[in-house]
Amino acid sequence: MLIKLTGGKIYDPENGTNGEVRDIYVRDGKIIETPLDERVDAEYGLQGRVVMAGAIDPHTHIGGGKLTIGRLMMPEDHRGHEVSHTNLTRAGCGHAVPSTLTTGYRYAEMGYTACFEPAMLPANARQAHIEMADVPMVDKGAFAMLGSDDFFLRQLSQSQDFEAIKDYVAWTFHATKAIAIKVVNPGGISAFKFNQRALDVDEKHTHYGVTPRDILVTLSRAVKELGVTHPLHVHGCNLGVPGNVETTRKTIEAMDGLPLHLTHIQFHSYDTEGDRKFSSGAARVAELINGHKNISIDVGQVLFGQTCTASGDSMRQYGNTKAASPKKWVIMDIECDAGCGVVPMKYRDKSFVNALQWAIGLELFLLIDDPWRIFLTTDHPNGAPFTCYPHLIRLLMDRGFRNDMLQKIHPDAAASSILGSLDREYSLYEIAIMTRAGPARSLGLKDLGHLGVGANADITVYEDLPDREEMFTRPVFVFKNGELIVRSGKVVHVVQGATHVARPDFDGGIEKSLKKYFESYHTVAMDNFKLGDEEILNGGQGSIKVQPVSARV
Ligand SMILES: [Zn+2]
Repeated sequence: MLIKLTGGKIYDPENGTNGEVRDIYVRDGKIIETPLDERVDAEYGLQGRVVMAGAIDPHTHIGGGKLTIGRLMMPEDHRGHEVSHTNLTRAGCGHAVPSTLTTGYRYAEMGYTACFEPAMLPANARQAHIEMADVPMVDKGAFAMLGSDDFFLRQLSQSQDFEAIKDYVAWTFHATKAIAIKVVNPGGISAFKFNQRALDVDEKHTHYGVTPRDILVTLSRAVKELGVTHPLHVHGCNLGVPGNVETTRKTIEAMDGLPLHLTHIQFHSYDTEGDRKFSSGAARVAELINGHKNISIDVGQVLFGQTCTASGDSMRQYGNTKAASPKKWVIMDIECDAGCGVVPMKYRDKSFVNALQWAIGLELFLLIDDPWRIFLTTDHPNGAPFTCYPHLIRLLMDRGFRNDMLQKIHPDAAASSILGSLDREYSLYEIAIMTRAGPARSLGLKDLGHLGVGANADITVYEDLPDREEMFTRPVFVFKNGELIVRSGKVVHVVQGATHVARPDFDGGIEKSLKKYFESYHTVAMDNFKLGDEEILNGGQGSIKVQPVSARV
């Protein structure tokens, strides 16, 4: 079947196309060259409309136990947010922590065609993938969490051969079907269980004697040498702590040029000036990012309203329980190897702290120069539910709107922020980089995030409306692998996305020591711990896309 998308304005940064009017041809789910004299089976007239690749969310919590806890813990998040079934779609509910099926429909209805779960604990990988299999419409992938697990910390503290550590990292990719490696509060989740309540970059874990710096440098180097495209994905030390801008500086400088992705940087950009000892560190962080080309970030923007924070960082989430709204929370250990904290949160524009968090996120967006190294996220659902993205895009593209919103927040927060003086407005081209081309390049997704020949025909078409929130809320058409899945912001066809993984080479000899370790310390045997491809393929329900790695030493 040959499909022609005629006359749209194309924004395809990976191929340098900035608003040019041209046609796109699709056959068998892929974008193809202009064919010679062939009959077109379906044509869509896109004159005056904006065409981009399907959007990619590189950091959104869509699978794994903590979402299930959030859903269980917050019946108030279900009420008033019920979604009925239709002939096509199934019922669901939820605003901050929507049910799996609803999550998939809502992403597709906003023009997203791929989503990545950034905190898959290896011991929970099976459950995370099962849950993601229940999210329809979008491609997905997951980042396996290392950095607080006992096997790795033993390796590091015993100064084991770096090659063995690399093998363990690569083994983890295979065993958990991951596309990247994540570290959450490096060593801190473990240190919390040894009664430490903070762990800064150069502080020692009292039991293992290693520091977050050791952990980050070792794992970043391992990921790089294994040839995995996405750099080590890091939720740093001291999340949410005033003054953590210093921690962020130390973390960036510790890398000494090694690649690193710092996630939800907004929560790591706090200074201690002013009467309340809480101020914006955005300008300092932006200067650091602008000066360090080895660092990429996503923002983790806070937007006002009810949400639910969910994180592997049990140390910092324990600190956040004081602010829980409604007043309930769960902090738990997982298999002695990791943790999890789920704390409902209501961000209020009249709260000084929340208002300043909002402003800090926007300052970062506007002060960081290179859109290829900054990705648009709310760290769903931590800063806000992902359904707020169109509102966030308008804040970035429309200075008048942004300044109107700035008038509504806590006056002291507005007064202490430089936001009102920032003139920058993002262009459609920059939005396309930040929400498509950038994440695809960073994650090493060769066939997503662009509209060149050979790309998957994941294509989103918008009406070019002056109100960018309205525009990005309801795409006219969304295609997934060449099939029309959304029309006028509503699902018209339900599909299942692929699971993207990376499979770096390693020496299988590591399994000898791992097997023994599992027998001594784990509740499951090593062979049962590892996921098989067939669990994701699930009789044809799912599919696996192996993205290339290129070993570099
Ligand atoms: Zn996150």
